[in-house]
Amino acid sequence: MEHILEVKHVEKYYGNRGNLTKAIDDISFNVEKGEYLGIMGVSGSGKTTLLNCISTIDKVTSGNIIIGNKDITKIKCKNLSKFRRRELGFIFQDFNLLDTLTAYENIALSLSISKIKYEEIEKRINEVAGKLGIDNILNKYPYELSGGQKQRVAAARAIVTKPSLILADEPTGALDSKSARMLLESIETLNEKMNATILMVTHDAFTASYCNRILFIKDGKIFNEIIKGGDTRKEFFGRIIEVVTLLGGDNNNVI
Ligand code: ADP
Repeated sequence: MEHILEVKHVEKYYGNRGNLTKAIDDISFNVEKGEYLGIMGVSGSGKTTLLNCISTIDKVTSGNIIIGNKDITKIKCKNLSKFRRRELGFIFQDFNLLDTLTAYENIALSLSISKIKYEEIEKRINEVAGKLGIDNILNKYPYELSGGQKQRVAAARAIVTKPSLILADEPTGALDSKSARMLLESIETLNEKMNATILMVTHDAFTASYCNRILFIKDGKIFNEIIKGGDTRKEFFGRIIEVVTLLGGDNNNVI
C-alpha cells in the first residue's frame, strides 16, 4: 500500500515549563492512498492542533510528518506555501470563494498561480466539473449560486490541483443538516470517483459516518480506531456513537 501521509511520534506542546499543555502527546498513524480518514474527539482533545501540524500551518515540537515521501517538518519556511499549493487541498466551512471571480475562475486560481497552461487548466476544470455536476454554472458568480452549488465549486477547487491529500476541518460545523449532507456527498464524490485521499476533523458523529476509518483522540493521544469495512453508513454511525459515548462526548447527533 502507498502511504500518502505518515505521522510519526508527533508531539506538540504549548506554553513553557511552568504552564505546559501537551496538545498532541506522541501520536503516530498512516493514511493510505484513496483513504477517507476521520479524526474525532471532544473539544480540546487536540484535533485542530494535529490538522494544523499536518497542513504545515503549525510546527511540531517533536516527531515527523511525511506527505508523499517529503518530511514536512524539515521544509524551510519560505518553501512551505509552494508545498501547500502543490500537495494539499483544503475544504473550509464557509467555502472561502472569492466574490469577484466566477466559479470557473475560483477553481482555476491556484492553477494559474502555479503557472499551469491555459489549455491544461480548461481540461482539468471540465473534467472535475463534469464529475461534480457543475458544468452549467461555471460562468456564474458566487452570489448567483445556491449553498450546495458553492460547496461543489469549493470541492472542485480542492481537487483540481491534484493534491496528495485533502484536508477538511469541521467542514459541516456551521451548516444546516441539508447543506451538511450535500457537502458530505461532494466530499464522498472526490473520494470515490476521483480517488482523493481525505483527512477530515470533526466532532460530529453523522459527519464522521461518511469516512472509511476513524481515529478517536483524547487528551492528545489516540484513544481508539474503527474501520467502516462492510458496514452501511447507518451501522457505522451506531459504532461511532458507541465510542463517542465511551469518550464521554455528547451523542445528540442522530441520523
Ligand atoms: P480541538 O481542536 O480538539 O478542540 P485543540 O487542538 O484546539 O483541540 O486544542 C488542544 C489543546 O491545546 C487544548 O488544551 C487547547 O487549550 C490547547 N491549545 C490549542 N492551541 C493553543 C495555543 N495556541 N496556545 C496554547 N494552548 C493551545
